[in-house]
Amino acid sequence: MKVVVLGAGIIGTTSAYFLAKQGHDVTVIDRQNGVSMETSHANAGCLSYGFTSPWASPGLPLSVLKWALTGRSPLIINPNVSIETIKFLYRIYKNCNSRSYEVNKSRMLRLASYSQKALLEIETDFDLYYEQRKQGSLQLFWDSKEMNKVKKDIAILEKFNIKSSLLDAEDCVKIEPGLKYVKNKIAGGVQFMDDFTGNCYLFSTEIYQKCVEMGVNFEFNTEIKSLKINNNNISSVLTDKGEFRADCYSVSLGSYSPKILSKIGIEIPIYPVKGYSITLPVLSDEDAPQSTIMDERNKIAITRLGDSIRVAGMAHLTGFDKNLRAKSLESLKSGLDLIFPKSYESSENVNFWTGFRPSTPDGTPVIGPTPFSNLFLNTGHGTLGWTMSAGSGKLLANLISGVNPEISTEGIDMSRYQFSRKMSNNYG
Ligand SMILES: Cc1cc2nc3c(=O)[nH]c(=O)nc-3n(C[C@H](O)[C@H](O)[C@H](O)COP(=O)(O)OP(=O)(O)OC[C@H]3O[C@@H](n4cnc5c(N)ncnc54)[C@H](O)[C@@H]3O)c2cc1C
Repeated sequence: MKVVVLGAGIIGTTSAYFLAKQGHDVTVIDRQNGVSMETSHANAGCLSYGFTSPWASPGLPLSVLKWALTGRSPLIINPNVSIETIKFLYRIYKNCNSRSYEVNKSRMLRLASYSQKALLEIETDFDLYYEQRKQGSLQLFWDSKEMNKVKKDIAILEKFNIKSSLLDAEDCVKIEPGLKYVKNKIAGGVQFMDDFTGNCYLFSTEIYQKCVEMGVNFEFNTEIKSLKINNNNISSVLTDKGEFRADCYSVSLGSYSPKILSKIGIEIPIYPVKGYSITLPVLSDEDAPQSTIMDERNKIAITRLGDSIRVAGMAHLTGFDKNLRAKSLESLKSGLDLIFPKSYESSENVNFWTGFRPSTPDGTPVIGPTPFSNLFLNTGHGTLGWTMSAGSGKLLANLISGVNPEISTEGIDMSRYQFSRKMSNNYG
């Protein structure tokens, strides 16, 4: 079957890989000059199979209040707040209860643990190097209250056979020796033994090269304008370089997916939650992180990537504004100084980056069919797109090929939202 994949971020690239592996004739369209040049470019670098959690949790509203009082908030909302931002916040709020949290977390974990298997499948298919380390990750807590809160999460993790262990401060230093400077300040942490780390951009380029070998056609520097409809089908993709026709289409345009989908009457609640990262050269290996450390209070992730350290975080609700906010750089740097003060070379060498997490209010992506018989979605992966990419790509390929999915699709496709196709005529 001829399949067009819209978008060459990590989600479009892994979709193309599994589609090509199943024998489809695949074309991927993207406006950038290569794969993963937008949100998948410089993320925190953690394959968080165990740490997978929705943003909306019962404790979030109180945390937001506390952050507002301390004036050091990882959540920033622009003062001239848009109606889309208000809608997103309201939907997040509706998910901030124990029941929704458990349902959402379970769905995300289902996809995350499937994704780990799918990533290992890719690694057995061919050799790929992406600065990967398989040493687990560590969620760090500053007081016993934070430690106690995580115990509930561990109960859910056990249901999914996800290995984790509660550590005191001393044990944290044993697995991450660079934490020695904060040993007396931290309460402890949870280690997720099955988490991996690495460079998402490098991973994408390795998959891209393999895709090219497998015959996938990439149309870069091509802006997608809309989808053309014929009755209950998509008949082509309209771009600034002309029209692309296929038997089947899959949308993985990250935060921009709703812009194209709303033109054909499909409304899905994906909001661009802006985040930032800085990447700095390692100064001293023994003072630097070895894997990913998540600072739960300050909501930042610090990851070792080869000879570099990446620090990522912040949730800036400001629509599609791509400006690099100087204050965010300072916050990320002071988060690193707090935990690994002697780990990096002079901050003049900082690489500062921003990206829009394609976030759904329930944290789960949207993968599966649409009211159009040959249109599929693979989008809305929010804070954990790289983690969930391999499983999402394989699930999508199975659905398109008519192969039985290897995991339940309950709660993963767009039917969980009450929104649907509003119009039914030709919008091409
Ligand atoms: C600060 C930060 C830290 C993060 N850390 C992690 C982490 O540690 N682990 C993890 O798993 N996830 C992490 N994430 C989330 C992860 O990066 C995203 O979920 C993931 O990159 C989304 O991938 P995507 O392919 O859906 O979107 P994108 O990478 O944005 O890809 C969408 C593609 O669509 C293209 N496109 C859009 N519109 C058009 C158009 N009209 N025409 C043509 N092309 C178009 C874009 O060019 C882009 O290439 C982080 C995100 C941020 C911002």
